[in-house]
Amino acid sequence: MKRKRVLVTGGAGFIGSHLCERLLEKGNDVVCMDNLFTGQKDNIRHLMDNPYFEFIRHDILEDVYVECDEIYNLACPASPIHYQYDPIKTGKTSVIGALHTLGLAKRCHARILQASTSEVYGNPQVHPQPESYCGSVNPIGVRSCYDEGKRMAETLFFDYHRQHGVDIKVIRIFNTYGPRMRSDDGRVVSNFIVQALKGDDITIYGDGKQTRSFCYVDDLIDGMIRMMESREGFTGPVNLGNPVECTMLSLAETVIRLTGSMSKIVHFPLPQDDPVQRKPVIDLAQKELDWEPVTALNDGLQKTINYFRSALF
Ligand code: NAD
Ligand code: UDP
Repeated sequence: MKRKRVLVTGGAGFIGSHLCERLLEKGNDVVCMDNLFTGQKDNIRHLMDNPYFEFIRHDILEDVYVECDEIYNLACPASPIHYQYDPIKTGKTSVIGALHTLGLAKRCHARILQASTSEVYGNPQVHPQPESYCGSVNPIGVRSCYDEGKRMAETLFFDYHRQHGVDIKVIRIFNTYGPRMRSDDGRVVSNFIVQALKGDDITIYGDGKQTRSFCYVDDLIDGMIRMMESREGFTGPVNLGNPVECTMLSLAETVIRLTGSMSKIVHFPLPQDDPVQRKPVIDLAQKELDWEPVTALNDGLQKTINYFRSALF
């Protein structure tokens, strides 16, 4: 069997490093491309000795020339503090990154998957969110660089598909967590676990009644690969996420219980445009990909807590 050569942009990040690992296990030749803005060499150090793994330090804003059969486009900072650090660059990364990877897919006749996001639904007025919902996004707020950048990337994917016949796959990822999240990236799962393990206050923004639906990273990777391998002509967009919804207050209480921490809950102001609720409809993923998450929140959190415990201490 010929090994497929697979390019993963953003491959040294949290999700990307798990994806590279799984693709190697499945017998692919993997090229990981990353500018290491939020990604880290430590995430892929264990893959470096594998002869079928290559790391290229490269910014996706520069054109990309890598012969490949498949492309997973993940390059883009994902946590609010990182994507708001240089919002102009975040927008460029989504839009120019999409143009460069789509151009490459066109030249190589490669199949290409875009890691889009539930943020395309903005602060959703329809709950839960099916793929047919067009979203409610503020185009001028602090989250817009990310939300609108990802929306424009989806537009480019569908225009390359219609205009040039590029074989595209678009997934909308809902909040994903697991080992290799950065302890300093400000996302809620890593913040709460690190705070609980250190005995610091648990910082809830707003009243904590806002909801998210958290998917364990192994489940997400399974869905991503199923989408890449899905039938010809199925473009998505398809939601990938865990439909079990929880409030930030209940997440904090669960983390405190699982860590046995003495930390107290404190409240801070809610950031601008913070979505009130979020939960995926995953009927399409179930039907087309025969996929649904299998990891319960308690189990996934326990694995993530174990990771942070050994990473921190
Ligand atoms: P991450 O920040 O860990 O990974 C992003 C990777 O992209 C990093 O390794 C970073 O260094 C790299 N990168 C950023 N800008 C780049 C550039 N200009 N050129 C090359 N590389 C660049 O975040 P993640 O959580 O692993 O997210 C991966 C992808 O999944 C992102 O596209 C994100 O938008 C999407 N996503 C993630 C979630 C989630 O819950 N984690 C939810 C929705 C969508
Ligand atoms: N959040 C919180 N405390 C934190 C970090 C985040 O209460 O220390 C909240 C945040 O306001 C949001 C939710 O948790 O309502 C999820 O935030 P995250 O940044 O993880 O993801 P996103 O908002 O992009 O879904």
